[in-house]
Amino acid sequence: MKRVLVLGGGVGGTLAANLIARKLRRQVARGGAVVTVVDQTGNHTYQPGFMYIAMGNERAESLERPERRLLDKEVELVVGQVTRIDIARRLVELADGMRLAYDQLVLATGSRILPELVEHFDTEAHHFYSAEAALKLRRALDAFTGGRLVIGIAGMPYKCPPAPLEVAFLIESELRQRGLRDRTEIHFCSPIGRVFTIESVSEMAAPYFDQKGIEVHTFFNVEAIDPERKVVTSLEGEELAYDLLILVPPHKGAQLVTDAGLAPASGWLPTDRHTLQVKHLMPPGTPDAEVPRFPDIYALGDATDLPLSKAGSTAHFEAPVVAERVAAAVLGREPHARDASYTGKVMCFFEIGDGKGTLLQFDYDHPPKPPRPNQLWHLGKIVFNKTYWMTVPRGRV
Ligand SMILES: Cc1cc2nc3c(=O)[nH]c(=O)nc-3n(C[C@H](O)[C@H](O)[C@H](O)COP(=O)(O)OP(=O)(O)OC[C@H]3O[C@@H](n4cnc5c(N)ncnc54)[C@H](O)[C@@H]3O)c2cc1C
Repeated sequence: MKRVLVLGGGVGGTLAANLIARKLRRQVARGGAVVTVVDQTGNHTYQPGFMYIAMGNERAESLERPERRLLDKEVELVVGQVTRIDIARRLVELADGMRLAYDQLVLATGSRILPELVEHFDTEAHHFYSAEAALKLRRALDAFTGGRLVIGIAGMPYKCPPAPLEVAFLIESELRQRGLRDRTEIHFCSPIGRVFTIESVSEMAAPYFDQKGIEVHTFFNVEAIDPERKVVTSLEGEELAYDLLILVPPHKGAQLVTDAGLAPASGWLPTDRHTLQVKHLMPPGTPDAEVPRFPDIYALGDATDLPLSKAGSTAHFEAPVVAERVAAAVLGREPHARDASYTGKVMCFFEIGDGKGTLLQFDYDHPPKPPRPNQLWHLGKIVFNKTYWMTVPRGRV
C-alpha cells in the first residue's frame, strides 16, 4: 500500500489532498493507497477575512470550518501537531507519540507570525494577521479620533504582499467617511525603494498614495519601537512618531521543517520552481542545477522559498502540480504534461478603497498588468470571500 501524507490542512494541503485522492480514487477504494492530512487544529481558517475583521465587516466565526467537511471522504484526517519529520526512515511523529509512515510527503505547513521578534510590538503595535489581533485593531480604530497613523512592515517576506497597502487605502476611506481625515496624518512605510515589490503594481498603486494624501517612506525597514517616545525607527535610521501603529509582523516558515534539516533558520523550504519538489539544503551559492531534489517530498503554499506572493492563490495554482506528480509516482507513470510543471501563476484581488479594487494576475514570465481599479474587482473580492468554502479547497475552480 502506498501512503501519501500531507502535513497542514490550510489552502494548499486541503486542495492538494483532495486532488491527489481523486487521481488515486481506484487505488484508495481497493486499499492500494491511502491519502492522509495531518493538521494541528482540525479547523480550516480563511485568513484573507482577517483584514475585513479589522475593517469591521467580518466576524471570526465566519472564517472557520471543520477541516473534515472540506476533505473528500477518501481522504483521512488526523488532528494533531507534527513534531518531527524523519526523512531517513520516511515517517513523521506527532506530539501524542503517534507515528505515520509515508511514501510521498507533501509539506503545506504554511507560515508563522512572530511579532515577538520586535520588542514592544505586543503593547505598541497592531496588526491584522490573526482574528484576535484584527479585532483588537478594529477596537483601536473605533477609539481613534485623529493623530498620526503609521502603517509599516516589520519583516519580509510576509503573507499577502498587497495587504498593508490595502489596509492603508481602506482606513483612509473610513477616516474620510467618519470626518476624521483632516485631523489625521497617514504614513506608509515600505521596506524597499517603491511602494510594492513588483514594478508594474507599484506604478499602479503609487498615484493612489498621492491622491489620498498618504505619505510614503521608502527604504523603511522596521527596526525598533520606542514606547516612551511613541516612535518607530527603521534600520536605515529614520524615525516616525505615531499615535496608532500598524505593523505587518515578521514571518517564518514552520520550525518543524528547520528542525528536520529541510529548511534554513527562516523556515522557508528550498523548492524547485517548476516541479515543487523540495531541494536539499546546500551552502549558499551552489548552482541550482547541482542541487539534488527529494524525489518524494513536495512543498506548496507559504512554506516554500519561491520568489512569489505568499498567497492562498499561489497554493491554489501549485496544488494541481503537486497532485499530478504525487499521483504519477504512486501509479508508477510519468506526470501528464498539462500539470507536470508549475508556471508561477498567482491571481489576487487588490482593494483600493472607496469601493474599488483591481486584480493582480501573473506568472514567472508575465508580470501583472493591473486593470484600472473599479467597483467590479472590489465586488469580485467580496464574492470570492463568500464562495471560497464551496470552491478553492474542494477543487471546484
Ligand atoms: C490578512 C491576510 C490577508 C490575506 N489576503 C489574501 C488574499 O487576498 N489572497 C490570497 O491569495 N491570500 C491571502 N492571504 C494569504 C493566505 O491566507 C495564505 O497565503 C494561505 O493561507 C497559505 O496557505 P497554506 O496552505 O500554505 O498555509 P495555511 O493556510 O496557513 O495552512 C497551514 C496549515 O498547517 C497547519 N500546521 C502548521 N504546522 C503544523 C504542524 N507542526 N503540525 C500540524 N499542522 C500544522 C496549520 O494549522 C494550518 O492549518 C492573506 C493572509 C492574511 C493573514
